[in-house]
Amino acid sequence: MTLVRTLVWFVLLVVAMTLAVWLVERPGVVTVQWHGWRLDTSVGVVLIVIVVLCVLAALLYALWRWLAGAPSTVFDIWGESRRRKGYRALTQGMVAVAAGDAAEAQRCARLAEKLLEEPPLTRLLSAQAAQLAGDRDAAQRYFAAMLDDPQMAFLGLRGLMMQSLKDGNSSKALAYAEQAFQRRPDTPWVVRSLFDMQAQAGKWSAAQETLQVGLKRKIVDPERGRTLSALLLVERSRAAERGGADQDAVDHARAALALAPEREPVAYRYAELLIKRGDGRKAMKAIERAWPVSPHPDLAQLYLAAAGEKDALKRVQALSRLTAGNPDDLDSRIALARECLEARLWGEARRHLVAAGAERPDAPTRLCRLMADLEEQEYGDGEKVRQWLARAADSPGDRQWRCRSCGAVHDRWLAVCDSCAAFGTTEWQMPPPSSHAVAAAAATSTLRLRPEQEVLPPDPPAEAKAPAS
Ligand SMILES: [Zn+2]
Repeated sequence: MTLVRTLVWFVLLVVAMTLAVWLVERPGVVTVQWHGWRLDTSVGVVLIVIVVLCVLAALLYALWRWLAGAPSTVFDIWGESRRRKGYRALTQGMVAVAAGDAAEAQRCARLAEKLLEEPPLTRLLSAQAAQLAGDRDAAQRYFAAMLDDPQMAFLGLRGLMMQSLKDGNSSKALAYAEQAFQRRPDTPWVVRSLFDMQAQAGKWSAAQETLQVGLKRKIVDPERGRTLSALLLVERSRAAERGGADQDAVDHARAALALAPEREPVAYRYAELLIKRGDGRKAMKAIERAWPVSPHPDLAQLYLAAAGEKDALKRVQALSRLTAGNPDDLDSRIALARECLEARLWGEARRHLVAAGAERPDAPTRLCRLMADLEEQEYGDGEKVRQWLARAADSPGDRQWRCRSCGAVHDRWLAVCDSCAAFGTTEWQMPPPSSHAVAAAAATSTLRLRPEQEVLPPDPPAEAKAPAS
């Protein structure tokens, strides 16, 4: 390269020298006359003047170019520095949000907003910082503004939904969840939140459609989906009955029982409808089939109601038939012991209670109470009654309707937990080992016969529980 350039310069030099020699050998005179002025000079001088003028013009042009371009260069450097500072504020703000530092988060959000010209990103930080600081209105404003940006709209909907849940405005939250579902039906938290909210609102058919989407997209476990479908059908059955569509009510209940016979509320629902139609025998058959997988005191009472027996001994016989398929279960023993006490069959009652574990140190509450009843009725032994009642108070607990999501204890089955709002999480079960005290306190309510009610079970909620699964 250098060699080529040297050659070029050499050639140019030779040409220039040749030209100079050629001009010297051919001298000439140039005369200019202008408005009474006269200028005489040689051709060589004229040529030199022309060359000098050209060089000057080139220099002026270069100077002009530099001056014209300079401002944008200065602004570029300034703008780049602003952006860098803006992104640093954004990052620090996100870290402050994660660390729960509301004041720092808001300071960084304000700085980032000032420095950056990308509202979506800064809006998200501003909304989170406002939320953290408890500024509900500002958070709402920022989330709402995000709806205008197609990239941020989904995030904005989520923020608005969570805000509505926090405010206790469930219908608004449901509307936002529906919009989020339309945008991204594949997102697990959207499907779970929408399902829970539809169930809470009693929109059973809509919830069932959402559940189907969840199953199809593998967001809901098939086993859980089966149970949830059954419990939704139980609720649809109740709704149909309230609306006077008795046949639909029975059809839904039957479909539910086919799906999840192991859930007590399902069998209860179907049997109570059959009894209402005067079909006691069919109701008894349904309860007998359900008892081995879902024994429960309410089912035993419903069975006796279906049998229509008033005689105490015949009631004991009826219960013996019912419990034959699952004779050693706690609820089989308790149901029989209770009826034996009514029939004054003291020995038989004691046999069932002892077989169920009444004499063990961890005897369930109901066993201790029934032993107290037995001592009272058979011997009128006040001291023993007091002892059994004391043991009942100290009992580690008993089977209860318990929400498997939040652990709340209910005195009856609830489709939607009134503590955590999850659908289908109430199950008839023993308390976990650590909650003896709570269980003992709540035990009395489970001894009552359940009033008019129903039942269902579902899926644990997710992040959105508020939001859900
Ligand atoms: Zn709950």
